Amino acid sequence: YAPLAEIDPEVKNIIDKETWRQFTGLELIASENLTSQATMEANGSILTNKYSEGLPNARYYGGNEYIDELEILCRKRALEAFNLDPAKWGVNVQPYSGSTANFAALTALIQPNDRLMGLGLPDGGHLTHGYYTAKKKMTASSIYFQSFPYAINPQSHLIDYDALAAQAKIFKPRLIICGASAYPRDWEYAKLKATAEKEGAWLMADIAHTSGLVAAQELNNPFDYCDVVTTTTHKTLRGPRAGLIFFRKDLEHAKDLEKRVNDAVFPACQGGPHNNTIAAIATSLKQVAQPEFRAYAKQVISNAQTLANALVAHGYKLQTGGTDNHLVLWDLRPIGLTGSKVEKVCDLMGITINKNAVSGDASAQVPGGIRLGTSALTSRDMREEDIKVVADFLHRAVQLSLLLQKEAGTKMLKDFVRVATTQEEGKQGYAQV
Ligand code: PLP
Repeated sequence: YAPLAEIDPEVKNIIDKETWRQFTGLELIASENLTSQATMEANGSILTNKYSEGLPNARYYGGNEYIDELEILCRKRALEAFNLDPAKWGVNVQPYSGSTANFAALTALIQPNDRLMGLGLPDGGHLTHGYYTAKKKMTASSIYFQSFPYAINPQSHLIDYDALAAQAKIFKPRLIICGASAYPRDWEYAKLKATAEKEGAWLMADIAHTSGLVAAQELNNPFDYCDVVTTTTHKTLRGPRAGLIFFRKDLEHAKDLEKRVNDAVFPACQGGPHNNTIAAIATSLKQVAQPEFRAYAKQVISNAQTLANALVAHGYKLQTGGTDNHLVLWDLRPIGLTGSKVEKVCDLMGITINKNAVSGDASAQVPGGIRLGTSALTSRDMREEDIKVVADFLHRAVQLSLLLQKEAGTKMLKDFVRVATTQEEGKQGYAQV
């Protein structure tokens, strides 16, 4: 045994720099969070050494006595975290990430070339929900399946459930996916279920972003209506980077759903599970079941609403005007800025955000907005008063971006970003602005 600093000072140094960045900066990326020390300890454990293809008590390798115990415990905690009856719901805890969980779910539910409908990426959906562009089918979910995304209403920016139903009536999808990466409002699962039932489609919710808020019962419950629910474990759920697939066990017409999902994860889409990650998921789910986590989830939403209100009070435009969950979508087009410019200026100020498409963007390559989330800051115990200060910092970042753009045109902003990029990343040339 020798410590990392001795074996590999270069990597240790990078980890130290990133630790410093995370400790000193303000983390506002809606898909990120700060997981607990206990979760990281489990994630960095000796369990990484073990191969365990298969399922508990049915492995392709020996020596899995403790790994079986772990996976069974993790499944139990996953069902408990979402208050699910083990007679009605099962869960596969092996997906390496949200993307693989989603592709495995698609593999379990539909056949190659079957039709699916998910929320379009420019409207807040995720790549894995069938995204493609006019030029290219660049995601597996559009390469292997026929995808016809639904959209948000161009005026209200809310899901238009009637338009979705009308589209499904014509397209006849085998699968409807709900859930999003950048949608600040809650979902009406009952309406989606009615459409799915009418058209004979599966209904799957990808609650990657909001699963912590769903577990805390702060948002509508997709489990009351969906056949399959997938999630990442590292966003509002505050666990390690991984995915989960929940499936109904009591469907008369699909008694084999459990087997289909399990077979889709392994061997269809993955090999051996990452047991260190499964341990870390189990640890984080134990924390999700504590009353403190419910208080945390409430605070995440209150903080997001405080942030939204403060930005609106500064005169800015938010998509849908506010939020029901942990994220805020800020439309910068009315003030003449792009998301990437503000992202870069924020980076220089130690505020981490991401550029994001907003409804009606001419090009997905030049997003007109930014997405903000309060999960990580709330994990640092920030409350409404702190969030108001953060909103003021963001206001100043935007005003600075405007000033740079106005005073000297885009060139000065480019120079500003170039200097910063060169200093910070040791790179030559312009950052993408
Ligand atoms: N699903 C949704 C809704 C997401 O927002 C994301 C990631 O941001 C994913 C799936 C993919 O998760 P991962 O990055 O773990 O593959």
